[in-house]
Amino acid sequence: MNPVARHARERACIIVYVFLMISDWASERNRMVERQIWARGIRNERVLAAMREIPREQFVPIEWREHSYDDEPLPIGYGQTISQPYMTALMVQELDLKGTETVLDIGAGSGYHAAVLSALAGKVVSIEIIPELARVAEENLGRIGRLDSVLVVCGDGSSGCSPLAPYDAISVAAAAPDIPAQLLDQLQDPGRMVIPVGSIDDQELRVITRKAGKVSTRVATLCRFVPLRGDEGWR
Ligand code: SAH
Repeated sequence: MNPVARHARERACIIVYVFLMISDWASERNRMVERQIWARGIRNERVLAAMREIPREQFVPIEWREHSYDDEPLPIGYGQTISQPYMTALMVQELDLKGTETVLDIGAGSGYHAAVLSALAGKVVSIEIIPELARVAEENLGRIGRLDSVLVVCGDGSSGCSPLAPYDAISVAAAAPDIPAQLLDQLQDPGRMVIPVGSIDDQELRVITRKAGKVSTRVATLCRFVPLRGDEGWR
């Protein structure tokens, strides 16, 4: 075969291979939504669409990538984890986002949860206390073209991010000993917050709703998150 024809054939093979890889991830993603998310009762169409849209494999470290759509949390380095897909879906469904909100996301980690939020809200401010992970989150979000709607900030999110407050919604992805007062101060009226609260080993996912000056709390599920560090977290 002449070199030009061989080159063309190689290129065609690479294109077919990349296409098969992408469509393979897409079908894994659809299966994950059907078997883990829809099957457990998540019915908000916008949430289901966001979970089908965001390529989770882009947020999972290479050594764990083949497990991207498994029904469990996965290590992302520095002793931290990317949450189980169902937990992300449940948390964002509880925020009841319509598309225009400004959301504070605490514990950026890999950036996956922030990416899902960005598909559902107007603007996301995502804080991460570990500088290396803040960089990873920014890189991952940049790779899938989400940095126009997500701002990654490196710092202690247990006291929120007051320069950009108030927030229509606050999502906390690390377990707090109690509800941080400063987060409540930065929550808009009306506004909603989801946060795991409890001991280091066992927590409940609380949904806090502020409406017409009143704050109410309900428990969505029992859960186990990594600890929230910082001023209003575990020291
Ligand atoms: N939402 C992430 C996973 C969160 S794991 C994802 O989708 O991948 C919890 C994260 O919270 C960890 O990365 C941890 O470093 C971070 N964290 C813990 N305490 C924090 C604090 N006070 N402020 C900001 N981030 C914090």
